[in-house]
Amino acid sequence: MSEPAGVAIEHVSFGYGATRVLDGVSLDIRKGEFFAFLGPSGSGKTTLLRLVAGFGTPDSGRILIGGRDATRQPPWARNVGLVFQNYALWPHMTVAENVAFGLQRRRVPRAERDRRVRAALDLVGLAQLMDRRPAQLSGGQQQRVAIARTLAIEPEVLLLDEPLSNLDAGLRAGVRAELVELQRRLGLTTILVTHDQEEANAAADRMAVLNDGKVLQVGRPSELYDRPASRFVAGFLGTANLIEGRVDGGAFQAGGARLPLPPGVAAGPAVLALRPQALRLLREGDATLPARVLRAEFLGGHVRYTLEAGEALTLVAEEPHLRGLDPLPPGAPVGVAIDASQATLLRA
Ligand code: ADP
Repeated sequence: MSEPAGVAIEHVSFGYGATRVLDGVSLDIRKGEFFAFLGPSGSGKTTLLRLVAGFGTPDSGRILIGGRDATRQPPWARNVGLVFQNYALWPHMTVAENVAFGLQRRRVPRAERDRRVRAALDLVGLAQLMDRRPAQLSGGQQQRVAIARTLAIEPEVLLLDEPLSNLDAGLRAGVRAELVELQRRLGLTTILVTHDQEEANAAADRMAVLNDGKVLQVGRPSELYDRPASRFVAGFLGTANLIEGRVDGGAFQAGGARLPLPPGVAAGPAVLALRPQALRLLREGDATLPARVLRAEFLGGHVRYTLEAGEALTLVAEEPHLRGLDPLPPGAPVGVAIDASQATLLRA
């Protein structure tokens, strides 16, 4: 295998005609890390990945791979491997022939080719199926062949474009775990494009949240979840209460209710972001905030409550479900205890 390489994306902008798709994107992807581009559909993730692969040239900015300026290099000169969403295996070829295909085109000599095909199939655990045709494999196995085909070219960077989206939900988590395990074992720099936050959270060491062609925030998944820097990131990564109000007298005032805040917050209009699990429901005793149940949704492992507090404040709270703890009915009075250390204050 080749030495993994880091990828530096510097001030990259790109458009299709007059439509700007990427707007001044800068990212530093470290050698050996599993990095995700996460964002809603149309945010520019695939376009950015394709520029790293060499399919297209930025209108401005640079892309460095392993410290070398690759901005104007064609794909075949970059030594990056791209695995598509639609893995497009040749149906008439065996697994081994599919994996060998790219090596033949690169004129890798026969003996070396056989060795690399074998090694790549060993890595994805499919060596014993090398004589089968794609139709004789499960969706997850076909995806592993597509990955083996890319690993066989011994890339410095592995690029994955929504690699799990064609698998049914039951298979996805398993194939994802295998992919992460493989990446850790190889220590291969990997960039994953996905719109699925759970996928990015589970796989990535770090990720960038993109929207409208811009990078909004970069960090470890738990860092972004715990400390979102904007309403978009707070709302895109899981459920968040995004409450508009004012910081006044050391508390947050919204909809006729007073919520606690961490100390030292400057007064003025703001948005308070609170995860549903940061609100604890008290059936009796003291609480920060009296409220009423509007709706309870039983979701198996937890119950999601929609609550009303003050005059017009709607809050979502989640409580782990345990046997014997019946969901509260609509109309039930509850107390809400809010842990101020879990609150994030955003600019209005
Ligand atoms: P994502 O991968 O985040 O869903 P894409 O990078 O595929 O986003 O697309 C970003 C934007 O660029 C979208 O608005 C899309 O419609 C537009 N776009 C993508 N490919 C083309 C193309 N070949 N020609 C014109 N516009 C395109």
